[in-house]
Amino acid sequence: MITAIITAGGTGDRSQLKVNKNLFVFDGSTVIQKTVKKFLAVKKINKIIVTAPENLIETFKGILCPLSTKITVICGGETRSQSVKNGLDLISDGFVLIHDGARPFVSTKLINKCITLAKTHGTCIPSLPVLETLGEVKWEYIHSTMRTGLLTLQTPQVFRTDLIKKAYELANGESYTDDCGIYTQFIAPCYHTYGEQTNKKLTYKPDFEALLPQKSGIGFDIHRLVEGRKLVLGGVTIPHNKGLLGHSDADCLIHALMDAMLTAVGLNDIGHLFPDTDIKYKDIDSTILLKKVLVLVKKQGYKPVSACFTIMAEKPKLTPYLQDIKENVAKLLKTTPDKISISCTTFEGLGDIGAEQAIATNCLCYLSPCL
Ligand code: MG
Repeated sequence: MITAIITAGGTGDRSQLKVNKNLFVFDGSTVIQKTVKKFLAVKKINKIIVTAPENLIETFKGILCPLSTKITVICGGETRSQSVKNGLDLISDGFVLIHDGARPFVSTKLINKCITLAKTHGTCIPSLPVLETLGEVKWEYIHSTMRTGLLTLQTPQVFRTDLIKKAYELANGESYTDDCGIYTQFIAPCYHTYGEQTNKKLTYKPDFEALLPQKSGIGFDIHRLVEGRKLVLGGVTIPHNKGLLGHSDADCLIHALMDAMLTAVGLNDIGHLFPDTDIKYKDIDSTILLKKVLVLVKKQGYKPVSACFTIMAEKPKLTPYLQDIKENVAKLLKTTPDKISISCTTFEGLGDIGAEQAIATNCLCYLSPCL
């Protein structure tokens, strides 16, 4: 009998996510589903016990139990050790693999290797050499920089079920950060094998942001050029005898930027969000609308990192104003001017733009995950 106990009973507070870290979704499924599937793929594992937080137990059951009848979801405890103990209480013989729910990148190769080695040596702990130099601090001074022989321990950690149960009995409720610690303390040293660099435990917010793709979106806008209106591009007023006509200030650069960001994250365009039939948007400064769009984009877990524009205008010559526009747009996007690029083109006298009756802008915007 081979059992896997997968610990997902903690709150995952260090991740500072809005959801429990094991329920974080990337590439179409949750962290815990991905982890459990790795163990399901190892056919010699007969039973998988997942420890879940008490308040989320039904959610965990709902996403995990349909995967296989081998899976049982139980309540975790106050500590990781207590959660493992709850799982151990349900089994009695053979070998048990104990694995962190937040290590979804473990390979089936490593799982198989750990089982095989544990059958020979009684235990198996995957671990890696410490790469960073370590220091021991006492009274604000570093006293030692030895790292020789030190390892960082990973999971799955494999034990004979009867012996790890005995170790837990002897630990008598005392909390340890992993099972190797308990086993080593009360039974014997554990056998070591090399783990995998990719078998990373997802812990902090950047670990999760790195799992999500960068996104990009494009936007386009055109407005009629008429007398008696201010010409505003990128929130900068440009001296000219004509300005752009529209319900708002008709800043076609900001409009193209907003649509680029909204399409990148799959939201409706500005025509839907700020309809020109709504009196409250009459002559509104488009940078106010941009701030609202940034809030919506942030709610989708993204922030803009760079944007490039092409402004299509016969007149006026915009070169003297491009640096001001870049700086203003960068400030609005909370980035730096080097992340904003703008090219300008005339229409060689062709069409409405060539006839100085309109100005158009297109925009390509890149966004990165921001949880
Ligand atoms: Mg527009």
